[in-house]
Amino acid sequence: MIVKDQALDAVMLRNDFPVLSRSRNIPALVYLDSAATTLKPQCVIDAIVRYYSEYGGSVHRGIYQIAERATEEYENARKQIARFIGAKTTESVIFTKGTTESINLVAYAWARHILKPGDEILLTEMEHHSNIVPWQMVAKTTGAHIRYLPLNDDGTLNLEDAHRYFTPQTKLAAVIHQSNVLGTVNPVERIVKMAHDAGALALVDGAQRVPHHSVDVTELGADFYVFSGHKMLGPTGVGVLYGNLEVLDKMEPFHGGGDMIRTVSMLESTWNTLPYKFEAGTPPIAQVIGLGTAVEYLSNIGLDKITAYEEQLTTYALKALRTIPGIEIYGEAPHRGAVISFNAGNVHPHDLSQLLDRDGIAVRAGHHCAQPIMTRLGISATTRASFYLYNTLEEIDLLVESIRKAIDFMGG
Ligand code: PMP
Repeated sequence: MIVKDQALDAVMLRNDFPVLSRSRNIPALVYLDSAATTLKPQCVIDAIVRYYSEYGGSVHRGIYQIAERATEEYENARKQIARFIGAKTTESVIFTKGTTESINLVAYAWARHILKPGDEILLTEMEHHSNIVPWQMVAKTTGAHIRYLPLNDDGTLNLEDAHRYFTPQTKLAAVIHQSNVLGTVNPVERIVKMAHDAGALALVDGAQRVPHHSVDVTELGADFYVFSGHKMLGPTGVGVLYGNLEVLDKMEPFHGGGDMIRTVSMLESTWNTLPYKFEAGTPPIAQVIGLGTAVEYLSNIGLDKITAYEEQLTTYALKALRTIPGIEIYGEAPHRGAVISFNAGNVHPHDLSQLLDRDGIAVRAGHHCAQPIMTRLGISATTRASFYLYNTLEEIDLLVESIRKAIDFMGG
């Protein structure tokens, strides 16, 4: 177990992650794809197994012991997560399948009811597809327009003329907090304020931020803040939509079904209170409980310590990668997270990632669900290495060595 006032010891921490067990992987796994999904510590796996093996009842409805325990653990996870993100009340924390579903919830339950022809949705050129496609679908059905805040060459947002993008027609600004391709951390506080000054709502995609840096949703003041459990040591199949209570209260439900209703007659239904109005059907109980444990694990280590350690890894990796002849690194934002996208010589990212895999190194290759960035950079793909609390400087050395080998193998 980790004690708060000691420095983060990644070598010791690695023992908590069974996938990293040396005997399981030959060569040893060098996992550098945490921006896609993170590995899970044993305590999260145990919490899930405990639910299924000791008290696997359903939540909210059962009046017997195991159902009551399941409800208690499920709602306790909501409290832990609310505390973790600085939400004032658990009513504003809605469990979804993940970031994608959280954004779709807002698109269906808010935007489709509110937006009119000519209204504007403001995105940025660095959004993940999950924060583009739902809005395109909304635009198609409502007649709203989408506008994009542009990118600078260094991978930061160009906010010089931002006031021109916020018009009386702007109804929503939906922006990524930390880029999953470039690592850029956006000044979301400023963007939320500009949106509010223009009379628009603001949604922040925190999928790449919440796992790595402390976030206070109350201080930030965004109307919606979304993230995924599986990118922060939790299981897949669970994520969060944090919402401003007043806005959530006025919204129509997303999915209809059990648990989200107060009354149902043959002709009509009335809705449950928050957050249940948006949690139709049997929820992902084991996953929510697992996410609660992940949040507890991260809190015990301390987000500040995780951020500081990742900064050390990123600085080291940028320096080491830049020693490779012919490497091009995309994104030079001064304020950045632990994600590095690059191309190495003439080696295609897919070939490179396959060659690195021979050395046990797992990186991502492709457009990273952010094709507008690729278009903006004039490329079709990059290789991406992303780091988390279990990575070490030695692993970065192995990455650099393996890239050099791959370039030689492919004849430069
Ligand atoms: N936004 C960002 C910034 C992401 O990195 C991702 C996942 N790559 C998503 C949204 C989508 O998350 P999920 O697939 O968990 O819904």
